[in-house]
Amino acid sequence: MKRIILKRGEERRILGGHPWVYDNEIEQIVSSSGGTAGAGSVASLETGELADVESAGKTYLGRAFVNPASKIVARLYSPSKEGVDKGFFKRRIREAISRRASYDLCRESARLVFAEADQLPGLIVDRFVGWPAQAALADFPRNFDEAVARFGPPLSWLVIQILTVGMEMRRNLILAALEETLGARNDGGLGLPAAIIERSNVRVRELEGLPLAEGLIKHFGGATETPRDAVDPIVIFESGLPFFVHLESGQKTGHYLDQKENHLHAARFIAGLGNAERMLEERQLTVLDACSYTGGFAIHIAHRAQTAQTLAVDSSREALETLKQNALLNGVEARISVEEADIFEFLRGRERARTRFDAIILDPPAFAKSHTQLKEALRGYKEINLRALKLLNKGGILVSCSCSQAIDESGFKRMIRDAAIDAGRRLLQLDFRLQPPDHPILVGYDESCYLKCGFYQVLV
Ligand code: SAH
Repeated sequence: MKRIILKRGEERRILGGHPWVYDNEIEQIVSSSGGTAGAGSVASLETGELADVESAGKTYLGRAFVNPASKIVARLYSPSKEGVDKGFFKRRIREAISRRASYDLCRESARLVFAEADQLPGLIVDRFVGWPAQAALADFPRNFDEAVARFGPPLSWLVIQILTVGMEMRRNLILAALEETLGARNDGGLGLPAAIIERSNVRVRELEGLPLAEGLIKHFGGATETPRDAVDPIVIFESGLPFFVHLESGQKTGHYLDQKENHLHAARFIAGLGNAERMLEERQLTVLDACSYTGGFAIHIAHRAQTAQTLAVDSSREALETLKQNALLNGVEARISVEEADIFEFLRGRERARTRFDAIILDPPAFAKSHTQLKEALRGYKEINLRALKLLNKGGILVSCSCSQAIDESGFKRMIRDAAIDAGRRLLQLDFRLQPPDHPILVGYDESCYLKCGFYQVLV
């Protein structure tokens, strides 16, 4: 086992919980025989091997996966000299599942493994619970228990992302560990999935020197006669409401599981606004769900706020097609309409037309994919927030999200304040939330904290 010795002082961030070692932080690599392989040289490291990381003062920091071709040369996965075999992966997966015990994983779809935060750097596993969508649309049960009565117990599907070389080289161990852990009769066994699908079509793989990869990895049978039908699409229940999910062709891993609590939360605020309005006058609320994807916000709002009419806007035609199907599935199609548009152009157009909304959700894609794009991204966020604020009625609600990791909570809040100044509005923050606990945040590792969602009321 080689040892990576850090330059003086570089251990501090790691002692604080950050699990990465950058190439420029390395003083030298010491080979197993004790010899020095060249000061500062990472060339002697082999792709995907394991190495021990130590401070300049020889404090042991932990064991890591190594990729000499990446700027992130080592990713720590353990504070001790733990080996990596199938047993290791099974242990980590069991720990990750028990960490999510506050979820009812028999009914709820959730992220089971969140990479570094679950001490499995570069591995993401989302688990979806539901049924293949083979039943006729108009006839699909509208609640979970009815679905169980009709189709029997739900199935599950795993959607995985393998983002690093260290994990890629161990993909067979990971798959076997997932299968054995989930299929176990006890000890965290949630039941074998119907299928495992890969969605490693993410750009960070390229930084690791890996090609993009996606598709059905394994089908465990039993779902339907033809495996393909069993995979895409499925119907899951999110907070009690049915949603179509395209595991193979949808965005991300098929559904934005990280927004599930915010969907519900936004719907509650908007329903509350509806109730208050109704006491004053009989008036329909108008709601804009901007960057709606398949309607996570819009569908929950349509259910809870009966007087709301929601317009869902997205640039993806496929997403809006699924959204319309989701509206039918939920029987709320009369309260939701869709428009395919670029969000910047849409908001500009509505400003010219002097349209007003009572509530606006902004959930754009990550404008900043890295710190270098930060300034430009903040301009983008500020522009849409500023325009949205101009479109809101007094007393109206803005739900504003950002999934850019590079923008932290205080930067986001400053952006909102600046947008409010420029829009000439005064805001009250009703709530502010980060990602839910199935996407846990590793303290000291800010990269694991990415989702921000602010709930604001327009005072003036
Ligand atoms: N609100 C959704 C998730 C949104 S993800 C939910 O809770 O499920 C971001 C969405 O923005 C994606 O659906 C993507 O298609 C859309 N999008 C990306 N660029 C856009 C643009 N320029 N204009 C409008 N929508 C855009």
